[in-house]
Parts: sequence; structure tokens; C-alpha cells
Amino acid sequence: MPEARFVVVRGTVQGVGFRPFVFRLASQHGLTGWVRNDDDGVKIWLEGDQNALTSFLEDFPQQLPPAAIVAEIDVTPKGIQNFRTFEIIASKHQSGPSTRISADLAICSDCLAELRNPTDRRYQYPYINCTNCGPRYTIITGLPYDRPKTTMQAWPMCEACQAEYDNPLNRRFHAQPVACPKCGPTYNLALADDTSTFVATGTDAITQTATLLREGHILAIKGLGGYHLACDARNAAAVETLRARKFRKDKAFAVMVADTHHITPFVEITVASSKQLQSTARPIVLLPKTSAADALVGVAPDNSHLGVMLAYTPLHYLLFDMGAPDVLVMTSANRSSEPIAYEDDDAKTRLAGLADAFLIGERPIARRVDDSVIKPIANTFVPLRRARGYAPAAVTTLPTSTPLLAVGADLKNSITLVVDGQAFISQYIGDLEHYGAFQAFEETIHDLTSMYAVDLAEAVIAYDVHPGYRSQQAALELPALAHIPIQHHRAHIAAVLAERQAWDTRVLGIAFDGTGYGDDGAIWGGEFFVGSVHAGFERVSHLHYATLPGGDAAAKYPVQAAAGFLHGLDLPDLTEPPVNFPKRYLQACKLITQSVQCYPTSSAGRLFDTVAALLGFTHEMTFEGQAAMWLETLAQTASSHDYYPVPLVSSVLDYLPLLDGLIQARVTGTTPAELAASFHHSLAKGVTDAAFSLCDEYELDTIVLSGGVFQNGLLTSLLVTMLTAKGKHVWLHEKVPPNDGGISFGQAALAALQ
Ligand code: ZN
Ligand code: ZN
Ligand code: FE
Repeated sequence: MPEARFVVVRGTVQGVGFRPFVFRLASQHGLTGWVRNDDDGVKIWLEGDQNALTSFLEDFPQQLPPAAIVAEIDVTPKGIQNFRTFEIIASKHQSGPSTRISADLAICSDCLAELRNPTDRRYQYPYINCTNCGPRYTIITGLPYDRPKTTMQAWPMCEACQAEYDNPLNRRFHAQPVACPKCGPTYNLALADDTSTFVATGTDAITQTATLLREGHILAIKGLGGYHLACDARNAAAVETLRARKFRKDKAFAVMVADTHHITPFVEITVASSKQLQSTARPIVLLPKTSAADALVGVAPDNSHLGVMLAYTPLHYLLFDMGAPDVLVMTSANRSSEPIAYEDDDAKTRLAGLADAFLIGERPIARRVDDSVIKPIANTFVPLRRARGYAPAAVTTLPTSTPLLAVGADLKNSITLVVDGQAFISQYIGDLEHYGAFQAFEETIHDLTSMYAVDLAEAVIAYDVHPGYRSQQAALELPALAHIPIQHHRAHIAAVLAERQAWDTRVLGIAFDGTGYGDDGAIWGGEFFVGSVHAGFERVSHLHYATLPGGDAAAKYPVQAAAGFLHGLDLPDLTEPPVNFPKRYLQACKLITQSVQCYPTSSAGRLFDTVAALLGFTHEMTFEGQAAMWLETLAQTASSHDYYPVPLVSSVLDYLPLLDGLIQARVTGTTPAELAASFHHSLAKGVTDAAFSLCDEYELDTIVLSGGVFQNGLLTSLLVTMLTAKGKHVWLHEKVPPNDGGISFGQAALAALQ
């Protein structure tokens, strides 16, 4: 006897080849009925005998298209309507905000095989794609996701492409960016001295680009979400030139390879990290370097890790196939701290003087999206930059029906838009003190709110309490139902809990970062909270308050932080060897004695800077977190370490005995590496002891770690090991960054539950 089932599937199920997949599976099982896209997901009607229905539903979750993410499947038995065939039927009008835009996807194995097959009509075509792969978020100009609302609208399909697009059995059925060499866009090459003339086009342009890279030139190459600057990672002179032109003195470059075996001599790859490298998001994965990595001179100096990504567009594979060096530096095309260039004319202007030649793709990029970065820490992968491949997929569902915009913090900004409870987090935007990044911030607010048809006048807007933040000012200028200020470090902790939808779980939250505005107006950054997202968080403990001469500006100069953090200790002359502090230290000490421009701070980030300064990092930082990264790298070279006390005294975690011990050991000749390790181990032990005592006092067994300091793999792993050894649960970030890139998400969660 035939039976019928009505199936509703929710999640990322549109724009990922879901309906053709259902069509094929139903046909295989001899089922009839239909499938269609709907406002809140994909709906399926199935008819057939019970065995066929059962085996369809068993195979279904096993054989999903690679990019589909199923959040929920509902199956309801129904009376049969005697369908004779199985069909893909027209979408119900989709205007609903819950339509999810898929993130961009790396090229799939089928397309890659066609790309390399001389008899295929898309042989060596740099824009090959299908429903399982290719651009999404970076080509969408509006909803619903259909060809006219993408940057492909200028290229009408040829007959052959149209036939594939219309055939439900074809892998390119309703693949919006579908194209071929006959009907679609291509790539062109221009030299820097005359960017308006193309010297080569198509396959030729790509071959010549590969040659230029081999010869040591620096190329601007248009990718999915913006331009990259590329050069041969083994060519020290090219890497140095790139640094000089980009005004990027020290910050590590990421590299791209076609396959993991090209990078295995230089880094340690585990099964888990290899899986991340090959995922459809193709993030940059920070991998521990081997000693052979010294051969990549200047790529990631003073860094224990190297950022590696696999090729993810057809163009990248073509470049490698056509003889480009097998390890390429691939870095966002910008001068230091500007947002990545993504529009052709802008790229030609802004990258003049940076690139020797431009490989320019004709398909426009709808919005800039940087490469994402993740780092293996303590048995998980922690996102450090969430952008391409992840944004703007919904991270989770929040228990609210009011639309909500959270504007984040000023550093490493991202914004979060909540529509029908779904939290969409924008791509990484950047540091808002830079004009270009601030513009990108405003554009992104406009972009996401118009895409999801949110009227801000009907929405709640959450922002950071820091009175000097541009994001706060911008938030207050927007019309809204209500404006809700959220304290920075509570947002950090809430973000971890919101990833797990743990609204009522009472936890001990430890937020360690560089800077955040505290309830008392002090610069916070070493905070212990007790509470839940629902009930709010009470600050129960914090790092000892130091004086920070120069306030937030001290974040650039470790010796300036050191002047404040060491103040009051019995000190030797730190301007003498072995410490050799420069004049800036004495100037900062003077500010303290005169009580000028001095601010109280409990910043863990500045504590790291202080220790880095004591151990040799006495110059200016050229990027955020540089001294702390240097310190972590140094610690990893040590063969032994000591413990110095970090006691909890009347709710204050006191690091002064630790600093005192480090200074004494430093002047008596202990190596900086050993002291760097001692610092990490001592701090981890002090925090662990404090956490146990607070957990006892407040009857808690779950500890949450967030804030930029927990990008430090050594400190975080030590803490996880020590805390779990005694039966505590430790929750780290897995979906949004522990740095300020996760703040908007935490703000959204706290505002939603208020
Ligand atoms: Zn494909
Ligand atoms: Zn075509
Ligand atoms: Fe922070």
C-alpha cells in the first residue's frame, strides 16, 4: 500500500543544490511527489511504499550536498494524493527574512575534474561552478537569490548553459552563477604601468601570471571576496619587497597551496587540521611550523605558526596547474589596516605601487569578504577571523522575535543582525579608527538590513558602553525601538554561551583581553564573572588594578604598559642591561609620578605586553597583539619553567609576586625563553586556583573562556588541561572569534534576553 510523507527541512538548504539532490534521491527510490523552496526551508512531498520511504529517509541525511547544513527535519505522515512523477515545483514567493544566504563555497571535486579535462567544454575555464560549489554571498545583490540579483546578470546564458540550468537532473540545475567560456566572463592581465590595456586574456592571461609569479613578481589577483597580493613564498626578495610596499613590517603572511602535500615539509598537519583545510569554507588554518619553515624567509617571522589555505577557486587551481610556484604568499590586497580592495578601479588606484601586474576577473564582486582564519587550540578549532566561507550563515537561533542589530566593538569589528531569532554575523570588517573600515562598517549595516528587509526603526540596537567608540556613536545616530548598551567583557562571555544556546546555564566566565570599558570607567581586561545570559553577569573578581600611562594608546608600546604594571615594585634600573628599556619607559614613569593621563586598568593584554617588554620586546608594536604573540612563540622554545605565585587576595588576582619573581630571575641570568614559559604556566596556575575557589564559592562546574588573550594557544591549552583535570567543563569559542570579532554576537545575545 502506498503511503505519503510531508517533509520540512530547515537550515542552509537553498542555493546549495538541495532540490536536485532530493529529486535524484526520490527518483532512485522510485518515489513520486514534489520538492520546492519555501520561505522557511525546503518542503518535500513523498509517495511510495513504506520500505522505499524508510530507505529514502535513512539515506537522506547521509548523502546531503556538501554545502548543505540541515538544522531540522520534520516528517509528517499524510494521506496519498496519487502523484505519478516526482517534480521540482516553483518556489512559493520568497520574501521572508528567514531565507538564508549561503556562504561562498570552494570548487567541488566534480568541477575540478571538468576544469582539468581537455574534452570538457569548461576545460580551463576560471569561472566554472555548479550547485555544489562557487560564489554565493560575494555575488548576491538582492533577494531572492536568482540570476538577475547576482553580479552575473550581465552575462546571459548560452543555449548549452541554459539547458543545464533548466534540467533538474543536471548538477547545474538553477546554479545561478553558471557560465562557460562561450557565454561567461573571463580573466585579463594588465601590467602596472598601464592598467587600462590588457596584455593577455583568458588562459593566456593565467599562464602569463603563473610565469610572472615564478619570476619573482608581485601580482594583484582578483579572487572571490577581494583582491589578493601574491608572490613566491620561497623567494625571500619578493617577500621582502611585498612587505616594504605594503608597509607591513612584521605581521605574518598566509600561504596558499594546491594540496596539503606541498606544505607538509613546513608545518605539522593532523587529520583534524587537514579536514579543516579541505572543508568547503577553505579557511586559513594556523599550523605549527617545523624547522624547515625557516626556508620561507620573512613569511611569518617571530611566529610559531604559519597560516595555510588550500586553493579554493578554479582560478587558483589553474595558476598552480600552469606552473605558478607551489607555495604562494596570498595576502589581502591593501596597504596596512585598510580594508581589502574588491572593486577593479579602486584596486588599480589603491594597489598602484604595490603590484607589478593585475590579473583582473570580469565578474564583479558584490561585497568585500576576507579570508577566514582558524587556529587549533586544545582539541578544537577556534575562529580568529570569521569571513569567507562562513559569513553570512546564521550562527544560531536566539529566543527573540524582535529584529536586533548589534554593532560590535571598534577593533576587529563585525556586526550581528538578528531576524526571526536567527543571528546572522557579518564578515570581519576591521578596525573602525581607519576611515575605510568605518565606511565598510556603515555599508555592511546598510547591506545586511536591506537584504533581510529590516526596518531599524522597529529594531533594537545593541552597542558597546565605551563612550569613545565610533560604533557607539553610529549606533546612537540610527533610529531604533531601543538602544541597549552592553558592557564589553560580558558580551565576550555571552558569545561563548550563545554559540551553545545556553541561555540559563550559570557559569564562571573569564574574560581576558586588551581593552574594554568597565562599569567603573576603568580599562578592564582581566575579569571574572558569575551568571548566565538570561540573568546577567556579576563581576566577582578581576586582575589587580595597575596604572596605565597614556590609556588605550599604551597598547602600542609594551614598555609604556610596563611602566604602569611594574610601578610600586622594588626595581633595579630597567634602562640598564639585561632589560634595556628605552627612553619611552622613563617618560611613562614620569606621567605616573605626575598622575597625568593615567588610567586604572585590569587588562590581561597589557600584562602580557609588560612581560614581553621585560624579556626583550622593547620596540613599538606594528599590529595588535604582536608582543603577546612574540611572548607565546618564545615560551614554546623553552625546555623548562618555574612557577611564581599569583594569589587571589580578597577577590583580586595579584600578579605582582609573579612580575617580581620574573625580574629577579631575569637580572640573575635566567633565559628569556624559560621566563616566558614560567609566565604562561604561573598565570595558568593562578587563574586555575582562582577559578576553583570561585566555582566552590558560587557552586559552579562550567567555566567559559573568552577575550583576545585566549587566542594564545599555550595559555588556553594549559588552562583547559588544568581545569578539566579536576572535573570542570571548559567552554571555548568554536563559531565566533574570542577576539572582538565575537563582540557583536555576544551583544545580540544579551540584548535579546534582556
Ligand atoms: Zn561544482
Ligand atoms: Zn555558456
Ligand atoms: Fe575584547
